[in-house]
Amino acid sequence: MATVLDIAKRNPNAAPVAVSDAARAAGFIEKKAELNVAAGAAPGGASLIGLTRDQLKDSLSAIGVPERELKMRVAQLWHWIYFRGAKNFAEMTNMGKELRAKLAAAYTLARPQVVSEQVSKDGTRKWLIRMPSTGPLDKGAEIECVYIPEVDRGTLCVSSQVGCTLTCSFCHTGTQRLVRNLTSAEIVAQLIVARDSIGDWPDATPPEGAFVPNDGGRFVSNIVFMGMGEPLYNIGDVIAAIDVMSDGEGLTLSRRRITVSTSGVVPQMERLGAQANTMLAISLHAVRDELRDELVPINRKYDIKQLLDACRAYPGLSNARRITFEYVMLKGVNDSDADARELVRLLKGIPAKINLIPFNPWPGSKYECSDWERIERFSEIVYRAGYASPVRTPRGRDILAACGQLKSETEKLRARARMMAEQGIGAEGVYALGDGE
Ligand code: SAH
Ligand code: SF4
Repeated sequence: MATVLDIAKRNPNAAPVAVSDAARAAGFIEKKAELNVAAGAAPGGASLIGLTRDQLKDSLSAIGVPERELKMRVAQLWHWIYFRGAKNFAEMTNMGKELRAKLAAAYTLARPQVVSEQVSKDGTRKWLIRMPSTGPLDKGAEIECVYIPEVDRGTLCVSSQVGCTLTCSFCHTGTQRLVRNLTSAEIVAQLIVARDSIGDWPDATPPEGAFVPNDGGRFVSNIVFMGMGEPLYNIGDVIAAIDVMSDGEGLTLSRRRITVSTSGVVPQMERLGAQANTMLAISLHAVRDELRDELVPINRKYDIKQLLDACRAYPGLSNARRITFEYVMLKGVNDSDADARELVRLLKGIPAKINLIPFNPWPGSKYECSDWERIERFSEIVYRAGYASPVRTPRGRDILAACGQLKSETEKLRARARMMAEQGIGAEGVYALGDGE
């Protein structure tokens, strides 16, 4: 049984309908999005959590900190917020009382609201997080974030958008209505919330009984952009968030331990590699255009050839920095021996890892997960061609925390999670990516 801590009741405000069933049936690839509605630098009274150095500088300027002091003050704030995990300005004792009072009058260090936290019996944690309202019409977007602890690493799966404008036919997130981009601050805030919750700050201790890596390493050592949304449709904020997360004076995550997963937004892949310098994962899922057009409809814009050409050109690609190809196992759809052989043929010459993901069913989904013997056979072909092709062990199955299951409708989720757990329907994760595999 999952432990469900209800920290607040869900705000039931319905999001605007952005895609109709008719549009979906007619094969529209993308839903209408309301993007970038959230603000950049913190306005008065807003939280400084998640802000970039430039945004912090603007926030300090706005309360009258003189230009000559800005660099030093930003560095101090940075240390307190991102290295120490400070929750109030009073503890920032290396700043003068007057400045602390000014900061406290204008800003907060408030985290976004944790609506619920679920802890799986395997230690996986899932948070439903409500972002502050961005205006009179926004009641606060809800997103999910998942933490997967293992012996030698702790992986946080973050969201980049609320919902997703794409409509991959096997993905639950693709059915969600509300779509907006998260700001870089909102992306970073997911890491802060996770570290608060598992006691991952210099002076904090993990909650009793918490599962955390036990090799003496960081509790959150890896980040995967595999929650809700298509990160490359929000690339500016994703890159800004990665800059904050990997900053050596603060959160200090290695870029090699950050993996961005894309369904194949070909024109942005180069920029991601050049500017963010992270690991890349590709949601391939099919080896023929006809099938991929159906499963991952962005394929109609950028087909398999274009996608793989962009992979070959990905900056920094080498045998030590391989691209992960994700392949969801759908019974009778993409799981034949011929598919496996074609997969190997297509990837020839690209430094690659292959991740086979057992399909995670969700209510209303039209696919079934391939049988275990089929997955093994598929994996054997891939293995013989020289790929490890790990099939991920189930994580968070009792709390519906696996790939493609994220959809922020708390009440429904709880009922579904119970139902799926009762019926013994499993869910596997593919989160353990990045350096150290
Ligand atoms: N939008 C990005 C990142 C989020 S999805 C992308 O598509 O890559 C993270 C991974 O989970 C993707 O490979 C996605 O295809 C996969 N996924 C989605 N729904 C799934 C499901 N029901 N079962 C298994 N994997 C799923
Ligand atoms: Fe969006 Fe990725 Fe789901 Fe496709 S698989 S609908 S791109 S979140």
